[in-house]
Amino acid sequence: MTRLLPLTAAVAALIGLAACGHTQPKTSEATKPMLAKTVSVVATDTIIGDIAKNIAKDKATIHVIVPVGQDPHEYDPKPADVSATGKADVILYNGINLENAPGAWFTKMMANEGPKAQKKSFAVSDGVEVIHLQGKQEAAKLDPHAWLSVGNGIIYAQNIAKHLSDADPKNATFYNNNMVAYTTKLAKLHKEAQAKFDKIPAAKKLIVTSEGCFKYFGKAYNIPSAYIWEINTEEEGTPAQISTLVRKLKKTKTPALFVESSVNGKPMATVAKDTGIPIHATLFTDSIAAPGQQGDNYYDMMKWNLDKIAEGLSK
Ligand SMILES: [Zn+2]
Repeated sequence: MTRLLPLTAAVAALIGLAACGHTQPKTSEATKPMLAKTVSVVATDTIIGDIAKNIAKDKATIHVIVPVGQDPHEYDPKPADVSATGKADVILYNGINLENAPGAWFTKMMANEGPKAQKKSFAVSDGVEVIHLQGKQEAAKLDPHAWLSVGNGIIYAQNIAKHLSDADPKNATFYNNNMVAYTTKLAKLHKEAQAKFDKIPAAKKLIVTSEGCFKYFGKAYNIPSAYIWEINTEEEGTPAQISTLVRKLKKTKTPALFVESSVNGKPMATVAKDTGIPIHATLFTDSIAAPGQQGDNYYDMMKWNLDKIAEGLSK
């Protein structure tokens, strides 16, 4: 499926969706007795798990494979993950080569699970306008970090609502209503962020992180990004990578650097020392925060990232 919507169109489509809803309620279904059974959902990472929770609420049990704070690019599923995946009604993965590249952990796990499970597995990024890694056009070199644009988070939520509704049609209206409420909140966050970024002078606009994971974010807000290494699977922080970034930053007026919660912060500390540019904040990229901490859900994680980046670049 291809649905290449720029962010503004995605948001406009959302407003349309909010007005009419996209799943017709079946009134005849409403009178049937409710089954106690909930939908069993497996999500490969904490971000997908949280969006699914916002849409399914108490109608699903959600097993998240890669735990909070761990790297979803590379993971060894535990026996409990394999067992939950085998029994799941819906298996949600990011796609765009985050965990489903040839030979990647999810690809191997699903090959072992077999066709029955494969038929229930869905890429939540379906319909996102995919960005390639820099200078590489081959299909294997895609940038998976689509969720770091709120507009794509809206697409993830729409896809998740659809797959939950397909698995559990009697609750389709419930899932659709939750999705509309949730994506309306995300669309509002996006608009507020856009207004903040519009006020920042162009010369200061550069998002500097360890992993080059802010391309979707940068595209949404027209802010270029720079990094030490491009993707976590190709690691990470060599002296040559650091000095390339330091040389680049010395030619810019960028006032702030950022580091991610799920990577080693030492290489960025070296960049800060060598450029004199301070590290302004730790951002959430490949995982939400631990339960009870700021950023422990997708909305708050994105709000934190948007606020901290706007604040740092305004210095
Ligand atoms: Zn990543």
